[in-house]
Amino acid sequence: MMRRLLLTCAGLLATSLSAAPKGPPNILFLFSDDLTTQAISAYGDERKLLDTPGMDRLAKEGIRFDRCLVTNSICGPMRAVIQTGKYSHLNGFYNNSNNSFNGEQQTFPKLMQKGGYSTAVIGKWHLGDNPQGFDYWHILPGQGAYYNPPMIDNGKRVTHTGYVTDIITDLGLDWLKNRPKDKPFMLMLQHKAPHREWEPALRHLGHDHDRVYGEPPTLFDTFEGRSKALSDHDMGIERTMTEKDLKLVPPPNLNADQLKYWNDYYEPRNKKYREANLTGKELVKWRYQRYMHDYLGCVKGVDESIARVLAYLDESGLAENTIVICSSDQGFYLGEHGWFDKRWIFEESLRTPFLVRWPGVAKPGTTNDKIVSLLDMAQTFLDIAGQPQPADMQGHSLVPLFKGESPADWRKSLYYHYYEFPVPHRVRPHYGVITDRYKLVHYYTPDVDDWDLLDRQADPLEVKNFYNDPAYADTVKELKTELDRLQVEVKETLPPPRASHGRKPFDNEPPLPAPAKGAGKGKGKGKKKAE
Ligand code: CA
Repeated sequence: MMRRLLLTCAGLLATSLSAAPKGPPNILFLFSDDLTTQAISAYGDERKLLDTPGMDRLAKEGIRFDRCLVTNSICGPMRAVIQTGKYSHLNGFYNNSNNSFNGEQQTFPKLMQKGGYSTAVIGKWHLGDNPQGFDYWHILPGQGAYYNPPMIDNGKRVTHTGYVTDIITDLGLDWLKNRPKDKPFMLMLQHKAPHREWEPALRHLGHDHDRVYGEPPTLFDTFEGRSKALSDHDMGIERTMTEKDLKLVPPPNLNADQLKYWNDYYEPRNKKYREANLTGKELVKWRYQRYMHDYLGCVKGVDESIARVLAYLDESGLAENTIVICSSDQGFYLGEHGWFDKRWIFEESLRTPFLVRWPGVAKPGTTNDKIVSLLDMAQTFLDIAGQPQPADMQGHSLVPLFKGESPADWRKSLYYHYYEFPVPHRVRPHYGVITDRYKLVHYYTPDVDDWDLLDRQADPLEVKNFYNDPAYADTVKELKTELDRLQVEVKETLPPPRASHGRKPFDNEPPLPAPAKGAGKGKGKGKKKAE
């Protein structure tokens, strides 16, 4: 009896003294759509656009990564990169418009399941096919709706009343409370907000008290000296924003009470706007203010969600053994270069927020400026779970960086390739190499064949092209060599195939070759028809 008591005491002492793991850690991936670092106060944007205490808490209690970069700055494709740990040209999901994800391939949730994790995805999925590799899924169809959204609960259509960010949060908390307790979990809680058309929760409509936001210095960028691809865009506050984007007409899905509340807020302001008859720069400035109000209102909802989830982790005792990662599928333009949206290799949409809290492992209140990527997520999750990392995945586990290590051989550059063109935003396909300081980018279509060199150090706003500057000749040469090396390393295929993945033709692109003469046809007749 005494011996047993002593052993028990010794055991308790050992447990309380050691920081040893309490079994495999849980993973909570708090993901948003089009959330950008400029809108998170922990990232310190000069405009001080919004206070985000929820996300700031993660930065304070964990690590803020300052250069988490995407490999193809657009929604669906980056989600496919996260699932597979592979570039778009290998996972087959290049663009949002006319492409779908092949869920039959190897993905990290399937491997986590095999490794004993309970897996769930709740919220925006945006990969076409039903999720695979998840024990539980409850997702928005396609882009989803902000108000009273229909959803799909493990294959069954359901409707919800309320605001999408709150609903996704409630569903996430319900799942956490009722999950199987005999396994560690990996939950992807994925918001629709703050995606276009930036519709905030009704309670947040007056959140900024009609504040006037500071403008970015490049709001009226003329694109002088850079590729024609830039000036030919269709994603500008001036030329592209619609009445729906600007809340000059109400959004769909509101019920009568909600619509009244919505109109009571927007209508007096819209009336004033109509009476002012703004044109030119004044019109752009007004639109920018309205855009900031709505976009940041959506982010406010996301931040409240994160604060709620963190509070639940505290009260349930889960916080200690749960790694929380907060990120987004890419960054976003908040008026820089006159743009909204993403796609380009420029810093605002290339860089995505990345905050990590791992109690006892990640040092609180630290920052990391190494080049990391959402390409690294799959291997990072598998590494955390103690699972092997498949050799055909193309990223690196971030676990050493979470532990505060600084591996000498960490990547110094990253390969980037964007494809979707010409619709919806006329952003020409481009690929490039990114380093700490430079971006060398090639825009390629039959009508444009331009190289631009950006230097973040000399030109932080990225409004100059140094490609033809003789002082940069050696840099261009070195970066081209690095680009060649990366294209071999990532198994790039150029030009990107068109027929095999449904890419829409570029402007002036010749039609696909006709099938071989006489293929599958009888003599003579088939030939005549082909003409
Ligand atoms: Ca997105």
